Amino acid sequence: MLVSAKEMLTKAKAGHYAVGQFNINNLEWAKAILLTAEEMKSPVILGVSEGAGKYMCGYSTIVGMVKGMIENLGITVPVAIHLDHGSYEGAYKCIEAGFSSVMFDGSHYPIEENIAKTKELVEVCRAKGLSLEAEVGSIGGEEDGVIGGGEVADPNECKMIADLGVTMLAAGIGNIHGKYPANWTGLNFEVLAKISEMVGDMPLVLHGGTGIPEDMIKKAISLGVSKINVNTECQLAFAAATRKYIEEGKDLAGKGFDPRKLLAPGVEAIKATVREKINLFGSANKA
Ligand SMILES: [Zn+2]
Repeated sequence: MLVSAKEMLTKAKAGHYAVGQFNINNLEWAKAILLTAEEMKSPVILGVSEGAGKYMCGYSTIVGMVKGMIENLGITVPVAIHLDHGSYEGAYKCIEAGFSSVMFDGSHYPIEENIAKTKELVEVCRAKGLSLEAEVGSIGGEEDGVIGGGEVADPNECKMIADLGVTMLAAGIGNIHGKYPANWTGLNFEVLAKISEMVGDMPLVLHGGTGIPEDMIKKAISLGVSKINVNTECQLAFAAATRKYIEEGKDLAGKGFDPRKLLAPGVEAIKATVREKINLFGSANKA
């Protein structure tokens, strides 16, 4: 069922596990993630970036597709459709289109402006029963062409944004979008612990989940991270499986060119990645 992310994340924070946000790009992605979440009885968040929203022909197309899948695939676990790194305008478009959750990324605004815009969206989302994610301190790497500095969030600013009544808070703690460079220094657990202490039971969000070592993921969860975003890892798995299929010449054998056959190994690779993450995050059987 399509729900806001509030209840699943409140339960995750209390139960010391995390719910995965898996970004979608098309029908295959959404189907693979929903089927795996159902199989594992895990709540799940489908992330949609503004670029992916445009690619999939608009937010209302996505809402229609996901609602249809929930109904026709018999998905019973809680599912949230969530705007990832939304602009102020994008957040309103998604609220209008029927998303159950939005992220407003005001981290590039001066803190006063981030607070003013977040506060406004807190009221709008509350009235409609949607969950809202806010961000403090930009997250490194590239997100739809936007390069973040990878700064570490100021715990006092986190507290200011958390107190506005957002559902969950993304704070930069040295995490990066995309593949991690060889000289990456790891997550800043000192700052994470400080933020966690200051924001109380507010679920924290870890972006850039691809390539963070398992022990760091587990430690981050123990320090209050309740939502982990995974995007690049599913893309890499899909690409590798598709490459293998073509390099083995399978598209040239029989009806191997049929897109339903050609894309099947990639879909299975996404499923395997999602399964692995759900096990690592501890959200299996928590639906
Ligand atoms: Zn992100």
